[in-house]
Amino acid sequence: MKIPFLDLKQVNAPYMDALKDAASAVVESGWYIRGSYSEKFEKEFAAYSGYAYGVGVGNGLDALSLMLRAEIELGRLAPGDEILVPANTYIATVLAVNAAGLVPVLVEPDERTFNIDPTKLADACTEKTRGILAVHLYGRLADMPAIWNFAKDRGLLVFEDAAQSHGARFDRPHLSSLVSRLSSNAVAYSFYPTKNLGALGDAGMVVTDDAELARVVRMLGNYGSEQKYVNRYRGVNSRLDEIQAAFLLAKLPHLDSWNARRREIAARYCSEVKNPVVRLPEIPADPREHVWHVFTVRVPDRATRDALQKHLESRGIGTLVFYPIPPHLQEAYAEAAEGTLLPVNPDFPIAESMAETVISIPVSQVLTDDQVSEIIGALNEFVC
Ligand SMILES: *Cc1c(COP(=O)(O)O)cnc(C)c1O
Repeated sequence: MKIPFLDLKQVNAPYMDALKDAASAVVESGWYIRGSYSEKFEKEFAAYSGYAYGVGVGNGLDALSLMLRAEIELGRLAPGDEILVPANTYIATVLAVNAAGLVPVLVEPDERTFNIDPTKLADACTEKTRGILAVHLYGRLADMPAIWNFAKDRGLLVFEDAAQSHGARFDRPHLSSLVSRLSSNAVAYSFYPTKNLGALGDAGMVVTDDAELARVVRMLGNYGSEQKYVNRYRGVNSRLDEIQAAFLLAKLPHLDSWNARRREIAARYCSEVKNPVVRLPEIPADPREHVWHVFTVRVPDRATRDALQKHLESRGIGTLVFYPIPPHLQEAYAEAAEGTLLPVNPDFPIAESMAETVISIPVSQVLTDDQVSEIIGALNEFVC
């Protein structure tokens, strides 16, 4: 049995007719960028995410950087302000903060959730700290109530990188008395093809309840203009294609059922994998807070991970490591020691240890029960 980590052709195959119809409709419409499909998808996806406004952009990285740049244009952030970011995130989160002219300050993750550790926020704050950019890594929501509360007390802005968490939801009614509002200033999504809701190319979106912020993000993605040839900001070109919006509109109605299937597979792994070498992730008390973008386990050390990856490969099972090198150890940030791009920081032992010991196994909705059983068997038979 051959079980690839993720087979995108198989992911899209059940919707082939709808996708081809969507493509034909756009080709025949004669309108290809920011039109009626984009507008409809922005409305539907913003509502699905629990926000009032959606602005389609070119990709997830641009969604992140443009929502931050828009806050600068609106005078709520200033170049050089510090934004707290988890140290174990995908490098895009950190790059986006730099791209907006802000300074990312890395904060260690919580070993239990893989997400930014709210108890470590206070120590990372300086007089320049103005915001927190939480990441819902692997599809599990970060502890937003704790983050919102912390931010409210200190007057910080809150942003979310939701590139891995389409459809994950908080449902904690008792919290509304604790936090002023159960929402962030803005949330950035990616629809890269491998995400839980993926386009057939690049696409991204910023969602927010702030009409003014949405308007500025839209301008920034269109050369800083909302009126042809009148440029208010030095913007960029980052707009949602009609064909990607049409594909995403066709796929969105199925997202909840895919996430439900991912939860089912994750629950099987958590109850049936019984190998002491393989440390399983925890299912949150409310399972809806996790959409299992990837299913990530931990092993004691790097050598064991290499051995496990080889073992699974020999059984035809594909795995990936998210992520083998944390941003602060990347060559891209080699000059960070000078403190210009990343402040001079101590090391991040938790993020570094995760990079050495995490490994993700297949969890996509297209897996059959037999394939899941095969993966469980292979994990249980692993000895190092
Ligand atoms: C995929 C991803 C991004 C970037 O999205 P692109 O659409 O590839 O630019 C940013 N952050 C996280 C956590 C991601 O997983």
